[in-house]
Amino acid sequence: MFSKKSSKVGLTFSLKLSVLYALFFVISSGGLFVVAYYLIDNLIEQREQEIVRDRIQEYRAWFEEGGLRALKARFDEQTDTARDILFVRIVGPLNQVLFVSIPKGFKGFDYDKLRPTPRTGKDLWLSIKGQAEKDAWTIGVAHLPGGLELQVGKSSTQSQALLSFFRTVFLIFSVPILLLGIIGGGLLTFRAIRPIRHLIQTVRDILKTGKMSLRVPVRRERGELYELVSLFNQMLDRNDLVIQAMHNSLDNVAHDLRTPMTRLRGVAEFALQEPRDQNACREALADCMEESERVLTMLNALMDVAEAETGVMRLEMSEVSVPELINSVVDLYEVVAEEKGITVNKELPGELLINADRTRFQQVIGNLLDNALKYSDQGQEIEICAWEEEDYALISVSDQGMGIPANEIKKIWDRLYRGDHSRSRRGLGLGLSFVRAIVHAHGGEVSVESELNKGSKFSIRLPVAQALIVEKK
Ligand code: ADP
Repeated sequence: MFSKKSSKVGLTFSLKLSVLYALFFVISSGGLFVVAYYLIDNLIEQREQEIVRDRIQEYRAWFEEGGLRALKARFDEQTDTARDILFVRIVGPLNQVLFVSIPKGFKGFDYDKLRPTPRTGKDLWLSIKGQAEKDAWTIGVAHLPGGLELQVGKSSTQSQALLSFFRTVFLIFSVPILLLGIIGGGLLTFRAIRPIRHLIQTVRDILKTGKMSLRVPVRRERGELYELVSLFNQMLDRNDLVIQAMHNSLDNVAHDLRTPMTRLRGVAEFALQEPRDQNACREALADCMEESERVLTMLNALMDVAEAETGVMRLEMSEVSVPELINSVVDLYEVVAEEKGITVNKELPGELLINADRTRFQQVIGNLLDNALKYSDQGQEIEICAWEEEDYALISVSDQGMGIPANEIKKIWDRLYRGDHSRSRRGLGLGLSFVRAIVHAHGGEVSVESELNKGSKFSIRLPVAQALIVEKK
């Protein structure tokens, strides 16, 4: 159903684009034709008016020289072709014809249309159409002394034929132009939306086969659609990583839950098998409590990490004194350190303020110190330092413990990851992922340097409170 729908969408999209392209093409060529037609028409009209105007001036001069008689005489003497092509008429004030010369091209001309014109003293232009489409005449009307009117005209049939030829040519060419527009538009659109077709095909294949490793073929070309394809592939890569991480997390959770749950069931089964005294039952219940506490702690820690990573966790931000916070955490772990025979040294400034959620940040330092104690041996030392550097607060927790193998360094931040050689010690593999998620949620960074069997140093970098305030201003 999806595939049918998407192919239809692709088709209508390209069809729409081709039609739009063809429409644009046709409108532009039509516009071009109209402009050209209008210019040619204007040019022809001007040219014809020019010819007539020259003659009007000439005839008027003859009239002014010797009146109607002189004009007639000079007109008869004319040897040029003007007589054959120009219509000349002189009418009196009562519209009586005093002189007329009609050339061949004036067949079908309706003289009634040359009614006396208003005496404005200015020359007047008339465009008169005949019954046949090609019949058209341009008439110039000038006023002569004595209330006479000089009418000089020229047939525009030839010009009209030229314009008509121009129109026919356009009509004949408009069909191939339209076809060219549609085909050209179609081809261009087909080529332009190729990345979208590939994208649709890839999504369809992924949905059909469930293979998240499929990618859209990318061509090394520039353009928004190619960028879209490349970004889409990057998004698939990232999704792939997230899904992979989720699978791993789920596997790990299942694996880590199985041990306490099996133990829980074993203890309960054993207690139920035969009637026992109250003390044995109490012991079994206490064991069950301990195991369920372990499961609960793990689930809570997992949820905390998920909330911090997705930005859902609500942080109660306030100004926190780093030395005071570190002192309180070290106090909490004092007994553990003493029991293990490990010395915890501190190097703290008088004051260093950060904007943070106090409780969460206590957990962050607590986790780092807990790890340092857990992965160190008797007689070794741990050092916690804090200092300010270029508007940043830096905190480091260093130990002389077992260190982290180079191939594990990247993985230690993953949820539920536990180093191979640290499995003998208690832990859920969630401490560092929690540390990283909380530090990131505070806009900071956390990093590690470690050497196997020599020790590790975890460093946190956060903007100091003053810097935050200045930035906000
Ligand atoms: P856990 O400590 O419960 O295993 P963490 O997320 O805190 O889980 O740490 C992940 C892994 O990183 C540990 O299993 C261990 O291999 C390694 N690690 C963390 N801190 C240290 C440290 N201070 N020294 C050596 N290894 C460490």
